[in-house]
Amino acid sequence: MTSNCLHIRVAEQVARTPDATAVSMGDAHLTYAQLEAQANQLARAIRELGCQAGDRICLFLPKRVEAIVAMLATLKAECVYVPVDLDSPATRVAHVVQRARPMLIIAQARALRLLSDLRAITDLPPVFVTDRAEFDAFEGEVAGDFGSLASLEDTPLSGAHDSTRPAHLLFTSGSTGVPKGVVIAHDNVAGFLDWACDYFAIDEGTRTSGHPPLHFDLSTFDIYGALTRGAHLHLVPPEMNLLAPKLADFIRQNELDQWFSVPSTLTFLANFDVVEQGDFPTLKRLLWCGEVIPTATLMYWMERLPHVAFTNLYGPTEATIASSYYTMPAPPASNLETIPIGKPCAGEDLFVLDEALSEVPDGETGELFIGGKGLSPGYWEDEQKTAQAFVQANGKRIYRTGDLGHRASDGLFHYLGRTDSQIKNRGYRIELGEIEVALGSLDDLMEAAVVGVEVGGFEGTAICAAYVAEADRGVSPQTLRKTLSNLVPRYMLPGQWVELDALPKNANGKIDRPALRRVFEQRMAAEGNE
Ligand code: AMP
Repeated sequence: MTSNCLHIRVAEQVARTPDATAVSMGDAHLTYAQLEAQANQLARAIRELGCQAGDRICLFLPKRVEAIVAMLATLKAECVYVPVDLDSPATRVAHVVQRARPMLIIAQARALRLLSDLRAITDLPPVFVTDRAEFDAFEGEVAGDFGSLASLEDTPLSGAHDSTRPAHLLFTSGSTGVPKGVVIAHDNVAGFLDWACDYFAIDEGTRTSGHPPLHFDLSTFDIYGALTRGAHLHLVPPEMNLLAPKLADFIRQNELDQWFSVPSTLTFLANFDVVEQGDFPTLKRLLWCGEVIPTATLMYWMERLPHVAFTNLYGPTEATIASSYYTMPAPPASNLETIPIGKPCAGEDLFVLDEALSEVPDGETGELFIGGKGLSPGYWEDEQKTAQAFVQANGKRIYRTGDLGHRASDGLFHYLGRTDSQIKNRGYRIELGEIEVALGSLDDLMEAAVVGVEVGGFEGTAICAAYVAEADRGVSPQTLRKTLSNLVPRYMLPGQWVELDALPKNANGKIDRPALRRVFEQRMAAEGNE
């Protein structure tokens, strides 16, 4: 490898396997040569529109081959892409756009409504569209379209191509109500790939899945893991997530070698019992990351697929894709067994520290800190948050994960929960504070609090909201849910609601969250017994 720049690594692979298929989505396929040529043309269009090195470009693109072209093109133009969740409400996307301050937006028709709503809230830069006809009704500035790219040269642009620079910003839930942008440099991703592509033996001809949404950290491995190694990336249509048999068929029909997703997806497939004994004969490995895998789910999969290697990957977006791994030596003996998060990937460091940032002895619980190649430069234009989360200890820059854990005497690390109110629900990272801030802005409520209750299985942690309505305002959970859906994405909407006369408070006058959790636990247990 001559460079850590992701687009240069992809270009080197293009030279090796120009005619191999690089990426597929439904009926759309691009060979390596086609991907490279289209990305080069779009990079030139981006430059012609005045974008310069370091400028951000927001991608309002659904999961399609065009999105992969746009990502590569942005990097080739030395710019920084920001994938936008098209299912988020405009008010939340406005925060992302305002923080990222993009010079350009690249959009597909699915984003038309969102972009129109956004225009009413915030200023938008020019929009480069995949299909101009579909944007006839758009009142903002359309700066160009994919149809015009054919007239541009399809060779790479020259430039400094500095791998220490940001490649993309990924926005995650923020406890203060505003999503925070994690800066990911080319070097961060390249560092993970150097370990992961060899460890998982990704090679020319390997058929990999692209399951997570493109604004989620895990997709970075799918994309660059495949495209820097000559593999064939099969983007999974998001609508299949509702149809377990279709998802299983997807693995079968595409003869995938590698599947990578959050555990919730694996639990979903297990719950629908769509995996046959000895199913997916081509599958060599199954990887998951992002949350605890229920042991029962893993047992289900491992019993049925004895020919497959199963690897748990652990790590936050701030440390790029994953920092530790554990490949199962054998199926768990019982569903009471917990699955270790394993050992640091090459180039990464994991520490269990106490409050004074001193290492705790093996077996004792502390907070997990991460160091090494994957460590993000920090949060986008937020020195304060960066300084809080990225700290120095023993001469090393490390990231405070907010995860609790311990290292066992065999050297394996274990995840033991969170120090704060960040949760995972169906694989989505959610700061309950973000939902609380949104609820707090609603007129009809005097007070509201959101807590998480562990339910395991597919859902992970249930989102539970308690509220006190303003006097004489009858507000139902249904109305609250509807109003809240204008402020937070669907996956952040509480599934459990309770109206109270007052929120329980502790001796310091703070909301008594353990007491609130008990209220929901009792209600959910009672519902379960009905
Ligand atoms: P995200 O930034 O969305 O990848 O979320 C990162 C957080 O997800 C971590 O800080 C952990 O709390 C959790 N997480 C990630 N991977 C695992 C895993 N393999 N096991 C348990 N929790 C995980």
